[in-house]
Amino acid sequence: MLQVLENIELRRKTTLRLGGIVPFFYDIRTEDDLMELPKLSEKIGMEIRILGGGSNLLITDESLGHANDILNFSVAQIQMSYENEEKFREVFLWQDDALAPPLAKQALLANEHGKALRAKVGAGMPIQRLLKLCADQGCTGLEGLMGIPGKIGGAVAMNAGAYLDEMDNVLESVGVYTKELGFLTLNRDEFVNTYRCFTPYYNNSPIKDYVICNASFIFPFTEREKIKEKMHTNLIAKKGTQPIKAYTAGCVFKNPIDENGVSISAGKLLDEAGFKGKELNGMRFSPIHANFLENMGHGDAHSALELIKEAEDKVLADTSIQLQREVKLWL
Ligand SMILES: Cc1cc2nc3c(=O)[nH]c(=O)nc-3n(C[C@H](O)[C@H](O)[C@H](O)COP(=O)(O)OP(=O)(O)OC[C@H]3O[C@@H](n4cnc5c(N)ncnc54)[C@H](O)[C@@H]3O)c2cc1C
Repeated sequence: MLQVLENIELRRKTTLRLGGIVPFFYDIRTEDDLMELPKLSEKIGMEIRILGGGSNLLITDESLGHANDILNFSVAQIQMSYENEEKFREVFLWQDDALAPPLAKQALLANEHGKALRAKVGAGMPIQRLLKLCADQGCTGLEGLMGIPGKIGGAVAMNAGAYLDEMDNVLESVGVYTKELGFLTLNRDEFVNTYRCFTPYYNNSPIKDYVICNASFIFPFTEREKIKEKMHTNLIAKKGTQPIKAYTAGCVFKNPIDENGVSISAGKLLDEAGFKGKELNGMRFSPIHANFLENMGHGDAHSALELIKEAEDKVLADTSIQLQREVKLWL
């Protein structure tokens, strides 16, 4: 039975530790809850907010109106099959943390016998739990995402990525729900992934107000040790250059791309514009990496937004580059 919670404080649900009270919070925890989406969408519509891990969000501290009711995703299971003789066979279910040892053993055998693993993953599965599975199985493609917080639904919606890997590398299809179209499985020619952006299509028109329910990935196998080593290197690099222990929402801005297609570091632009370490009422651009906005514990969303706008104006005035926001604002 789908759980409806009232007056939930969103501050506790975001990595930036900002966010006011929301009237209704619909918690989708199981496959059965998912089946209640049509009934729910009839009742409240689907123009509501969808929360994943809350790691890419800047939410106002004010109380939010009904248009901001939250659909929270925690369905977290993985159905795996492995490719053998050109076919996907042998299905294993990995249900959250309750992986039964015999299944784990069988699944590991897939690596020895198969060529690739198909994993259908619930939108509520934490990204890092999928990466752990990839490391254990020897599945390659997402090693660059090591250390990125959030859930699979949010990672697909953002086409999350780092160190030259992104969700798009291994995404085979995406299961979505919309009020008008119901449940749909979108194949690769029905969505487009660009830099931190996922756009689904139906009959060649972009789909609005969709909920990502699950995603299917195809992971080629490679040596487990190589994967673990790459993940370890990426994690060390992340820890060495980003304020991963602070309250942040990851990078505030996308890295602009110049006319030759070369990526310019937004962090460097902010640094050169004098924003590294710049503070306002408990919010600051990190002294470690200027593209991360930190809540020092007593910050507020209003000041965060003011700093963001100030930085955009200064970088534009200095370089003629209009920074694009990567962080999603719920104001
Ligand atoms: C310390 C730190 C480091 C980070 N490093 C990186 C990095 O290297 N690379 C990177 O890409 N990101 C990074 N991020 C940002 C963030 O972790 C990713 O964007 C992540 O994929 C967001 O997932 P989430 O579940 O937290 O989404 P949320 O923040 O909850 O939501 C993000 C967006 O996705 C939408 N959404 C979420 N779930 C669904 C769903 N089921 N259906 C439809 N829409 C949905 C939300 O409505 C919102 O618009 C970092 C963040 C932090 C705090």
